[in-house]
Amino acid sequence: MRTVADVRALRASIQAWKKDGHRIGFVPTMGNLHAGHYSLVELARRHADRVVVSVFVNPTQFGPNEDYTRYPRTLAEDTVGLVDHQCDLLFVPAVDALYPCGLEHALRVHVPEVGDTLEGEHRPGHFDGVATVVAKLLAMVDPDLAVFGAKDWQQLLVVRRLVRELALPVEILAGPIVREADGLAMSSRNRYLDDDQRARAPQLHATLEWMRESSREGHARAAVEGAAMRRLERSGFVPDYAVVRRAVDLATPAEGERTGLMALVAARLGDTRLIDNLPLD
Ligand code: AMP
Repeated sequence: MRTVADVRALRASIQAWKKDGHRIGFVPTMGNLHAGHYSLVELARRHADRVVVSVFVNPTQFGPNEDYTRYPRTLAEDTVGLVDHQCDLLFVPAVDALYPCGLEHALRVHVPEVGDTLEGEHRPGHFDGVATVVAKLLAMVDPDLAVFGAKDWQQLLVVRRLVRELALPVEILAGPIVREADGLAMSSRNRYLDDDQRARAPQLHATLEWMRESSREGHARAAVEGAAMRRLERSGFVPDYAVVRRAVDLATPAEGERTGLMALVAARLGDTRLIDNLPLD
């Protein structure tokens, strides 16, 4: 595996592979890699001849009071794991490489509608940062396919919309959520949890399963959502939302709409904000 920080070196490698007829798969990450990330690398490997992974903690997707500075950076361990998972090229750009005009003056891509709700409301500007960095990374890597995790379902929809509107010639694949044995979705942020919080954390997934059961039993959406919020509070969370939405665009389902729905939750345990989701059918 080669590691490059420079965009020109990245392009040279990728162009050489393309000239040889290889299909390029790309997995963008913020590093501190876990089994969830590695499952995306494996998915990319099944659909491509060469796999490129980026590790970049993107400053523009963090709010002013969020965890940009303390976000875990573990490049040495990540490098070992990526070699094990047969990554061909690791791209580790510096902030200047992605934001040559400076963060203040950087291009900003806004994805309306699907980017404005839920996480968009609770983390203003977050998806502008995500859409901007994904657009830049896709322009630099120019992959045939890129893989994103269903864990960040809304992010996946934002990326699909971005790719569609910019008519980018890249296929977007989604990898399923990888969970710990107790149901907690793997996340780099899980390491912020203390023992007590870690013991409570699986209630996030348990609440999603409860929402799925209640919806199947025919309970009204608003009642399910309200009860899910109270359930999370009783488990020690400060919830931002617990909602049932259409999976395809996160619109509020019509009365009686039963298929293609998804439950999505975001909640804080202490200073740590966790998100998760579960399809209802
Ligand atoms: P991040 O490093 O958190 O920006 O995540 C990089 C990619 O990994 C994103 O597409 C995430 O959705 C995906 N991802 C993160 N956690 C998981 C997980 N537990 N299962 C599957 N994919 C994940």
